Amino acid sequence: MLTDYHVHLRPDQEGTVARDWFTAANAERYRRAATERGITELGVSEHVHRFTQALDVWQHPFWRRWARDDLDAYAQFVREETDLRLGLELDYVAGREDRLANLVDRHEWDYVIGSVHFVGDFAMDLDDEHDIWRRASSPEQVWERYFATLAEAARSGLYDIMAHPDLVKVWGSARPAPDRDPRRYYEPAVEAFAEAGVAVELSTAGLRKPVGELYPSRAFLEMVVDAGCPIALSSDAHTPDHLGFGYDRALEALSDAGVTEIAVFERRRRRLEPAG
Ligand SMILES: [Zn+2]
Ligand SMILES: [Zn+2]
Repeated sequence: MLTDYHVHLRPDQEGTVARDWFTAANAERYRRAATERGITELGVSEHVHRFTQALDVWQHPFWRRWARDDLDAYAQFVREETDLRLGLELDYVAGREDRLANLVDRHEWDYVIGSVHFVGDFAMDLDDEHDIWRRASSPEQVWERYFATLAEAARSGLYDIMAHPDLVKVWGSARPAPDRDPRRYYEPAVEAFAEAGVAVELSTAGLRKPVGELYPSRAFLEMVVDAGCPIALSSDAHTPDHLGFGYDRALEALSDAGVTEIAVFERRRRRLEPAG
């Protein structure tokens, strides 16, 4: 079986409106592209910051700029007008766990994807005034804080899947990286994943980013597998074209790491199915 769960129906483009994208016809375009690529388990997971309800959690200027859609209308659309699994990409905001839980409790999701884009007020993957690297005192500090936040996110109990787990490397050589063996940074996150019993995403999105690699790195994936964490396979597609993107590379990485099964979700219950 092949899955693609971390999928966005709506582009990250200002001026676009939900009603043009949350349509049965658009969902059908995704379903068709997935079927062509042998992906039978297809779900969507819009960014929490696109929904007005997210402002009850956090009032960050980046969230205020993007929060236009209605979370309940999204969930209702996916359930009633599509055959897709219903998910949410729920950014972790440290200290706001109760408010995040309130959002999760509004609907019966098939899965909730946990991601860390921000550490404090600054982001891993924004090349603007919110860029963490403009403030960073050292790459060691950024990596350490990123993975500590990811560990905290996993332990919050809010999530089924931890997304793009080494997003901190997104810029590749365009940003500094620590000199030390990166495994010392992965370690606290891996420990937290295992204790929390979450699945870890193998994401091909990094292949489309400056870093040009899968998330997580080979060494990180090996540690996660050694710790007994299940793997969830996704592309983080923002268009039907992205579905299943780079899956040949992903399947090779899984097989190199000795992974033969991937995680499948329904109403937040997880099972394993043969990968491929
Ligand atoms: Zn993300
Ligand atoms: Zn995403």
